[in-house]
Amino acid sequence: MSTHHWIDVAVQTPAHSLVGGLLSYRSPEALQAGQLVRVPLGWREVLGVVWAVREAAPTDMPASAVRDVLGALDGLAPLDIHWRQLVQFSAQYYQRSLGEVALSALPPQLRDLSSEQLARRLNKQNTERSVQSQAGPPLSDEQHQVLHQMAHHTGPFLLFGSTGSGKTEVYLQAVEKMLAADPQAQALLMVPEINLTPQLEARVQARFGTEAVVSMHSGMTPAQRLKGWLAAHAGHARIVLGTRMAIFASMPHLKLIVVDEEHDPSYKQQEGARYSARDLAVYRGRLQNASVLLASATPSLESWHQSRPDAEGGRYLRLHMPSRIGTGQLPKVRRVDMSKQPRRTVLSAPLVEALQERVKRGEQSMLLLNRRGYAPVLHCADCGWKSECKHCSAYRVFHKIDRTLRCHHCGLTERVPRACPECGNPDIAPIGRGTEQLEEHLAELLANVKRPDGTAVRIARIDADTTRFKGALESQLASVHSGEVDILVGTQMIAKGHDFRRITLVAAVNPDTALFSSDFRAPERLFALLMQAAGRAGRDAAHSASSEMWVQTFHPQHALFEALKKHDYPAFAASELAERSAAELPPISHQALLRADARSQDAAQALLNAAREALELQLSAHAETADLVLQVSVYPAVPMSMQRVADVERAQMLLESTNRMALQKMLRHLHDLLHQLRSQPEHKGVIRWLVDVDPQAI
Ligand code: ADP
Ligand code: ZN
Ligand code: ZN
Repeated sequence: MSTHHWIDVAVQTPAHSLVGGLLSYRSPEALQAGQLVRVPLGWREVLGVVWAVREAAPTDMPASAVRDVLGALDGLAPLDIHWRQLVQFSAQYYQRSLGEVALSALPPQLRDLSSEQLARRLNKQNTERSVQSQAGPPLSDEQHQVLHQMAHHTGPFLLFGSTGSGKTEVYLQAVEKMLAADPQAQALLMVPEINLTPQLEARVQARFGTEAVVSMHSGMTPAQRLKGWLAAHAGHARIVLGTRMAIFASMPHLKLIVVDEEHDPSYKQQEGARYSARDLAVYRGRLQNASVLLASATPSLESWHQSRPDAEGGRYLRLHMPSRIGTGQLPKVRRVDMSKQPRRTVLSAPLVEALQERVKRGEQSMLLLNRRGYAPVLHCADCGWKSECKHCSAYRVFHKIDRTLRCHHCGLTERVPRACPECGNPDIAPIGRGTEQLEEHLAELLANVKRPDGTAVRIARIDADTTRFKGALESQLASVHSGEVDILVGTQMIAKGHDFRRITLVAAVNPDTALFSSDFRAPERLFALLMQAAGRAGRDAAHSASSEMWVQTFHPQHALFEALKKHDYPAFAASELAERSAAELPPISHQALLRADARSQDAAQALLNAAREALELQLSAHAETADLVLQVSVYPAVPMSMQRVADVERAQMLLESTNRMALQKMLRHLHDLLHQLRSQPEHKGVIRWLVDVDPQAI
């Protein structure tokens, strides 16, 4: 009788399927954990990762039912234990199947290649890539201190550094040191959105040569992604620069992880396994013994809390770089009290005047408004009709440029009606304003203002509408950099990361809504956005003395704006943390959301509430689990704030605990219960359910 080898393979299975993503197979040859294999799954042939090698045939199924592996992808080194542990942890922590997480962490093209095709790709690039390090500038004292600390502590580190304090230079020199100390070492540099920071890519390549650096983000072609992934896996790529997905890159010699703008919400994946790449960076660093550097001018309150220097102490070491490089000063913050302005004022007179001054001097300004389109809603004053979306609990936004009403949630787009669809009144009017209207309004206000060369003022707008086509954002940014544009109007898209050297005025047109939002993180986001935006102004030391950040608000005395005026993030963080603490909100507590989508709101809530009741019954019945009920609050199901999207009703249930382990245990119980409940006939109206651990918005 021939010998067989029995293995468990991670394959992509439907979300929440009970197999957990591991299936048993038989192989004529011995295989190792971490090897990639092709296996049959139903009628299909799929890619899998060998997860475990068994001593004997599985006992939970007849040996005849175990199918044979179709082949291994030879020539590719097995994915190492650290990579597998990272995947395993992510699947467990974020409550998804192992197979799903493992397979989605691999480049998609790997699934389609035969062994021969792969061998050809590998041959093509099976060469060492050389690093050509250029020396950086001499370090400032603060930069020097930070690197010194990093060399003498294990971290994780939180680098709290003003915009323009030279954080990027610190990353580059940390990488340089690491490369010099270890001929194999690899570094991972993570950024929130790569297309917003093309300068960083250029800067890294200029410093280390193009060969040793690869990028990883969703804007790349499948072939480019595979190429970069293989180079990192083989250890040839020494530096990987990428967005959140890069946290799963196979980097066997990883020694340093940098998370730039660590507060940015885009580090949280919003579908599938809803992981936080920032949190996984810390986990991965510990696993692989790599140094982890989180950095921001406005750290997340989570990281700030973790790095508190008090007696209790956090787990991160806080490093501080308060000064801007050169003589560049942070801009002066000016608040305009909108309650003292004529009603319905969009741009206050002093702000308009300041903008005119800038244009005349040949300087640039930036106006921020967090709403795209022309007006958020069309309205009939006669009958009260509003431009609601028939599929979502939202208004459709009026876009004047093509005279459409567009739903920003489901995409439903229609021509603007000539008259009110309810009563026929021809006089329907926009309420509120978006970037498109602001741009138009500004053009009217500044129609007679001339630039130094006597030509008319040039206004440009950048938001999701103007950048829908590939390359549009890049060319629009280029025109700002080249000085063609005098005033840039846009959403938060323009506030992040760009190094616009000639901007001397930044204005937040209407930031007040975030002060009173039901989302407890809204003030934190607003503060970060405004600090970022302020950081855009005066980056050129020659102009920094005259640079200003304007805020138009009905609440000029609000603590958030007081802290902004002093550029005092620690003061803001302290007051915000005190509130969070009083309300036992994150980061003092930990949260998870359970969401159900169904045809009716009742059906969605019914599933969640049934799970909640069953959970309490089940847990209180046993002494060893009764404790959990006390440690974790499970709230009744409620409609989500965006209750209906594309005709699907959405409900959510919040779980909260100061004990992360208890919360995790609770989720595991709930997971099993939901499986059982979901298959019962009374819950057949449910379309899907999902778990969001450490949600960014509730
Ligand atoms: P941050 O990432 O904190 O915004 P950067 O690293 O981009 O700051 O630095 C801001 C500017 O200062 C950049 O133009 C950078 O090249 C320059 N810079 C940084 N460190 C130094 C240094 N030690 N000496 C001279 N210039 C520096
Ligand atoms: Zn009407
Ligand atoms: Zn809609």
